[in-house]
Amino acid sequence: MLSCISPILRVLCDTCILYSNIFCALCVLRGLNCICIAVVRRQWSVVIFSYLSPMREKQITLTVQVYDSADEMRSDEKGLIEEAKKALTKAYVPYSNFKVGSAALLDNGETLSAANQENASYPVCVCSEVVLLSACSSVYPGVSIRKIAITTLSGTQASNSPKAPCGQCRQTLLEFEKRSGNDIEIILAGDTGPVYKLASVKDLLPLHFSATDL
Ligand SMILES: [Zn+2]
Repeated sequence: MLSCISPILRVLCDTCILYSNIFCALCVLRGLNCICIAVVRRQWSVVIFSYLSPMREKQITLTVQVYDSADEMRSDEKGLIEEAKKALTKAYVPYSNFKVGSAALLDNGETLSAANQENASYPVCVCSEVVLLSACSSVYPGVSIRKIAITTLSGTQASNSPKAPCGQCRQTLLEFEKRSGNDIEIILAGDTGPVYKLASVKDLLPLHFSATDL
């Protein structure tokens, strides 16, 4: 078995003891007359071991279409954002004063909108997106959703950037998308400023949990 020739340093270096079949790089460079300090040897051993490890990285890419403003979008998408903004007036937010409006364009051409509803018992608060999906399922059961626009308003201060749905809403949106079998485009808009558009709910929740995992 190969090992670093310096017994003192071998004792100091846990990594070399564990993987003593690996020479540290300084031992090799100095003709096995290692005088390096333990810290340096450990660093080299970790690097070498990482190279030999089966671990690998997986890149998950996300594509977001960015529009400078809603005016750059298609007329039906701009209209959907307007519906979401109108829905802000339906919000009941006496505690956070953070309004979320959302609007869905369904496969049958109909549009429904919703807003968040808070409660003195905070866990009972319902997000705008959840209210919206419940309305879609109830009013037009079995009809897919093509697009959803979401906008926010904090107090009286107009938002100039898109805000993304919370984790619970992403999971709820994903379930709806999967059960309908059609991707739902997600449009995120502030009162002004850039607008983000995603091709599918899966882009909001790339490493998701779903019924197929049960
Ligand atoms: Zn939410």
